[in-house]
Amino acid sequence: MGNNDCNEGLLVLINRVAAARGLLRRFGIDALLFTDLKDIRYQCGFTGSEGLLLVGAGETFLLTDSRYTTQAREETSGCDVIEFREKKAALASLAADMGFQSLGFQDQQVTVSFYNELLETMPGVRFIPLGAAPALQRIIKDSREIKSLEKVAGIASESFLEVLRTVRPGDTERDVSIRLEFALRTAGADDKAFEFIVASGVRGALPHGRATTKTIRSGELVTIDFGALLDGYNSDETVTIAIGEPDGKQRLIYQVVKDAHDQALDAIRPGAAFRDIDAVARDYIARQGFGDFFGHGLGHGVGLDVHEKPVVSFRSEEVVREGMVFTIEPGIYLPGWGGVRIEDMVVATTDGCRVLSRVPKGLMVL
Ligand code: ZN
Ligand code: ZN
Repeated sequence: MGNNDCNEGLLVLINRVAAARGLLRRFGIDALLFTDLKDIRYQCGFTGSEGLLLVGAGETFLLTDSRYTTQAREETSGCDVIEFREKKAALASLAADMGFQSLGFQDQQVTVSFYNELLETMPGVRFIPLGAAPALQRIIKDSREIKSLEKVAGIASESFLEVLRTVRPGDTERDVSIRLEFALRTAGADDKAFEFIVASGVRGALPHGRATTKTIRSGELVTIDFGALLDGYNSDETVTIAIGEPDGKQRLIYQVVKDAHDQALDAIRPGAAFRDIDAVARDYIARQGFGDFFGHGLGHGVGLDVHEKPVVSFRSEEVVREGMVFTIEPGIYLPGWGGVRIEDMVVATTDGCRVLSRVPKGLMVL
């Protein structure tokens, strides 16, 4: 990374903390307490697995344990790194030193027991729930994030295409899953993004069917939902393939899902409501007679988390804005028969969207 990249990266973090400070006024509080590790990484660059970030009007503190203090000082700048032995006690004494009497906290992230312990340890402090506000800060990706997401999506897609050439009837779902994980780790991914779904034949009716020891047979459709993790960013893509020549019903259902997927992609533009984009795909599937067999939402945001804002469904309150990265993943699941899902990851642009995942979505027959 060159010096310019470093400076640019630092500027990004400074801007994020400044944006977070906007919440102090909005909620009328003295400081923000970040407990979610992805949000902490987003705000200050710290990648360890234990820590609290406390953001006041003029200062930022990262509290972590002795395993991470050196790393934290290297990864962050502009924040005081404080080593703790007992997390809540350290937070309580810091808040007392700083005179913080009200703290915004991530009520959608902390456990009830952690919250109760905070109340007990810090009886003089008011805890104000921030709701979705911290998560919403991550909803629009900057150009560096989009680059990271495009890169990780590319690694996953290329790995998938490589593994696809080896898939044969007689392989188990698990065989395919393991080969895919090996391929994307070999291609440079830090990890898989989640437990892959490999659902063949009738198991395709399970939208979240984990790979089992079931043998893949000729005449089956196989739904493979996979993703990679690189530098903290995730990818998410689903491909449904045919093993051997598909029959008429398999072709028909595949085409309905593909058309729904394509129409939804065409409907993406800044200002469009996600609820309406969901309806484009959902109404089309219903008109083709499969309305009862597409139960889940159309998609979700992807970034530091595999599932994050925006919500892309009939329940969504959000509209598309340039720089949002999310999935479009319609599916039809027929109990006792099987299923089809097609998922791409896209970034919203000034006049539409750009697809970040790379596997072509025409029906591939092996
Ligand atoms: Zn997926
Ligand atoms: Zn997804």
